Amino acid sequence: MIDSHAHLFMSEFDADRPEVISRAVEAGVERIICAGVDASSSQEVVLLAGSYETILASVGIHPENACQVGEKDLKLIARMAIGSRVVAIGEIGLDYYRDFAPPELQRNLFEAQLELAQQLKLPVVIHCRRAEEDLLDILSNWQGKVSGVIHCFSSDIELAWRYFDLGFCISLGAYVGYPSSNSLRENIVKLPLDRILLETDSPYLPPQSYRGQRNEPAYLIEVAGVVARCYNIPIEKIAEETSRNAALVFGLKSKGRGAQVI
Ligand SMILES: [Zn+2]
Ligand SMILES: [Zn+2]
Repeated sequence: MIDSHAHLFMSEFDADRPEVISRAVEAGVERIICAGVDASSSQEVVLLAGSYETILASVGIHPENACQVGEKDLKLIARMAIGSRVVAIGEIGLDYYRDFAPPELQRNLFEAQLELAQQLKLPVVIHCRRAEEDLLDILSNWQGKVSGVIHCFSSDIELAWRYFDLGFCISLGAYVGYPSSNSLRENIVKLPLDRILLETDSPYLPPQSYRGQRNEPAYLIEVAGVVARCYNIPIEKIAEETSRNAALVFGLKSKGRGAQVI
């Protein structure tokens, strides 16, 4: 399996990061895409990707940090993004749910990073909360130039199709199994499996049975289980299909198992 979205740079993992990665590999997670949220965390994910073969890096500035960034940060991201262990620009996007930064500032930062992705021919990992119409508006201007994945998708199914039409995939996490995700769970079966990726978003959004605890990539098997039940197909099939989709989105080659430090 491929965990298409995790934040293993965070201090929650400082005490046992190598063990977390080993547990993920033992649980069948072949790759973990670790996403930065600003210049310094992007640097950290690049370093992690250089230390663990299982980890690959996505570099970018999250919309919640839009107020703290300047030209310098974007230049740092651009420099990191050419690294051989960097497979995407992200997480980037729009978040109007919490009042971190004015929408216009977020949109400008987002577009600057879409431009970078286009220049470097890298996919993007998009975060979107309560900003779907603006997001679709912007992405439609970049149709055919930039694609990637909408991470942590939890909106209605019609919206998923609008993302698919623009060439994007969506990624699902353990929240699909939460009691509050009833309608999402019922409707997932209507989505084409070749557009679905799996993620943990570790340390956030743990599976229902681990609520209140730290999430980690080894629990991706729980996500696969929940999604497999939605489609009523074997978990192996979900693992296989979603891994292939992630490999296609991020341009990954398959590798043998093992979290050897390189
Ligand atoms: Zn996010
Ligand atoms: Zn995230």
